[in-house]
Amino acid sequence: MNTKFDLNTLVRPTIKALQPYSSARDEYQGNSDAMVFLDANENPFENGVNRYPDPQQRTVKALLSELKGVAQEHILLGNGSDEVLDLIFRAFCEPNQDNIITLPPTYGMYSVLAHINAIEIISVQLDADFQPKVDAILSAANSNSKLLFLCSPNNPTGNSFEAKAIERLISEFKGIVVIDEAYIDFSNAESWISKLENHPNLIVTQTLSKAYGLAGIRLGVCYASTAIIEILNRLKPPYNVNELTQQRAIAQLAEYDKTQAQVKAILAERTVLIAALSKIDFVSKIYPSDANFVLAKVDNATKRYEQLIDRGIVIRNRTTQPGCENCLRFTVGRPDENIKLIKELRRL
Ligand SMILES: *Cc1c(COP(=O)(O)O)cnc(C)c1O
Repeated sequence: MNTKFDLNTLVRPTIKALQPYSSARDEYQGNSDAMVFLDANENPFENGVNRYPDPQQRTVKALLSELKGVAQEHILLGNGSDEVLDLIFRAFCEPNQDNIITLPPTYGMYSVLAHINAIEIISVQLDADFQPKVDAILSAANSNSKLLFLCSPNNPTGNSFEAKAIERLISEFKGIVVIDEAYIDFSNAESWISKLENHPNLIVTQTLSKAYGLAGIRLGVCYASTAIIEILNRLKPPYNVNELTQQRAIAQLAEYDKTQAQVKAILAERTVLIAALSKIDFVSKIYPSDANFVLAKVDNATKRYEQLIDRGIVIRNRTTQPGCENCLRFTVGRPDENIKLIKELRRL
């Protein structure tokens, strides 16, 4: 438990004073079948999407709650993690005053969102094993440091951060620690959502874009204390998750065994890909992966990247990222896609 943490002093005054928009569907919740709804100026002719969606996405949250073992009051949904992360910025970071801490090489959206919101970025590079330098992070923080972003498993490096390091950061950082678990379903590491009760300064984000196979519907999930969820609910747009997205998410979450089977298949393919990469002579290092992608160091990343493009294969060149010189990131594809990739790599 972090004794220096005080949520009340972290929330922006504008947000604390905000009177949230009350939508027609917020005001009345009930058994809808028998009711006549003439409150929201909708077109009354049914076509499946003529009504506004549930602003609180209750059915999606109920399924997630059961799957993850977290009460619904600890869940907020957004139009992708991107929206969830942006809400977190706007709730806690005062433009032109506050700062966030990121640990490069990491996911690019944290710094993009910081720039959009006029928030300073303090970067503390990961160590040679791509683990957080806890002491350096804590001493880089100042009284305006509102958010610390930990991406675990990390993108683009693929590794999970050590639990001991994360635990210390949660206990000692005075702001809010955001753990981005976009790839947690590929990892054996335990999710930090099970630790929410002990840590009022913790936010965990997940997504349906990766393991669940629903990048196209845009659904991001935020798990946090009820106090933090209440704050984020105040500023989210009322209908931020559309009806089609909710329906598709419900269908997918109800068939979780299918997701599990696909995750298993992807992890098996990852093993195949790593074995094949290790036999390619221009690959000098393969980093351990806890995710559905593999980072590898090669002789000349830009050259190899372009050669693969010419052969119809798009991967990600991460050579400009700190600590990732000449590194390429390979997403684990279907078996036929991986066979094609390996074949072309051997030919280069
Ligand atoms: C892919 C990814 C996400 C997912 O973002 P969505 O907006 O939910 O699609 C979030 N964080 C990281 C680190 C990612 O790599």
